Amino acid sequence: MTQSGFEEVKFLAEEFKEEIIAWRKHIHMYPELSGKEYKTAEFIVERLKEFGIEEIYPAFGGTTSVVAYIRAENPSDGKAVGLRADIDALPIEEKNDVPYKSRVPGVMHACGHDAHTAMLLGAAKILNQLRDKLPRDVKLIFQSCEEYPPCSGARALVEAGVCDDLGVIFGMHVYPEIPSGTVGVKEGAMMAAADFFKVELIGKSAHASKPHMGVDPILMAAQAINSIHHIVSRKVNPLHPAVVTIGKIEGGYAPNQIPDEVKMEGTVRTFNEAVRDKIADWMERALKGIAEVYGGEYRFEYIHGYPPVINDKNATRYVREVVKKLLGEDRLIELTEPSMGGEDFAYYLKKVPGSYIRLGTRNEEKGLVYPLHSAHFDVDEDILPLGSALFASLALGYGKTPEGGNF
Ligand SMILES: [Zn+2]
Ligand SMILES: [Zn+2]
Repeated sequence: MTQSGFEEVKFLAEEFKEEIIAWRKHIHMYPELSGKEYKTAEFIVERLKEFGIEEIYPAFGGTTSVVAYIRAENPSDGKAVGLRADIDALPIEEKNDVPYKSRVPGVMHACGHDAHTAMLLGAAKILNQLRDKLPRDVKLIFQSCEEYPPCSGARALVEAGVCDDLGVIFGMHVYPEIPSGTVGVKEGAMMAAADFFKVELIGKSAHASKPHMGVDPILMAAQAINSIHHIVSRKVNPLHPAVVTIGKIEGGYAPNQIPDEVKMEGTVRTFNEAVRDKIADWMERALKGIAEVYGGEYRFEYIHGYPPVINDKNATRYVREVVKKLLGEDRLIELTEPSMGGEDFAYYLKKVPGSYIRLGTRNEEKGLVYPLHSAHFDVDEDILPLGSALFASLALGYGKTPEGGNF
């Protein structure tokens, strides 16, 4: 894609700026919880039809997601470029006093998915006008339920085959930790797998003065805590980051009684699937051994959250080049550390190479400094056309050859 191509995208994004901002405000005012994004999906379909996009698949994969194609006028051998926005809101009561404040009590777009949706709509409008310049088809993925792992929209869409005709996929998230208008990229591990576990250690209640008559689950818990903490330091390769935290423990009623049970809960964060499985396996082994030694029992539940988000090297290099050409080198931020948070974009990346990008929205002058999921979170509207331009450029610049990613 030539420099004038990038200028054209920027020009169109600027031309649609007010519209993109208005869409975001509308979606912000009517937030819907994960898996229940009915009105949001309708709004998306209406806009896409308005732009003249014909191939639209609402309720894709039995979810409330909307998938649509913008077909290249001169198609190439390359598979489609996927662009993904998540569309759900959170069960949070908005504390911002703004004209576009949430009209739905207890529900708020506190993670910026309203902005993602509006930015991808903006990109769709731009790309549909530039179909003659598209190197390959574009698949727009407006994904439901990112915030609630049991109904993960990404998992459902991948199972329904959404990645089957994709050559690459890009996702973007607004990010209040880097300045407005900058773009954060990182190759490799971007976000952790975030799992949870529950442990019950079952003993036998007895008088505190007669411990030999019972089985002490508090002592079992002490051993379990020790053993579990040794998994990372003694069973995991030190070059593979992992965190195990037991964040909750309860048990016992009186100072002079051995109780019958202790319960614990915690979380495991990893960037490597093998490490992830190993930790779960060793936890169970430790608990089994302790129960046997003390003559008690155990219950263990390991709840898998999202897999780790691993950005493809080449796709991320390509993003870097696009950002430099579209916005300039000074707007590109190399993120040095991955985040220990989770994100279901991981499921697409397990199927197809791609990159998950952070779009800066921190603006101290405007007071936009609150973290994601805060009841005070808000995005800097000025970055919305920029996000649309970036999405559109990623699709326009990807190249005709099957391997793609070259200008
Ligand atoms: Zn979130
Ligand atoms: Zn989010």
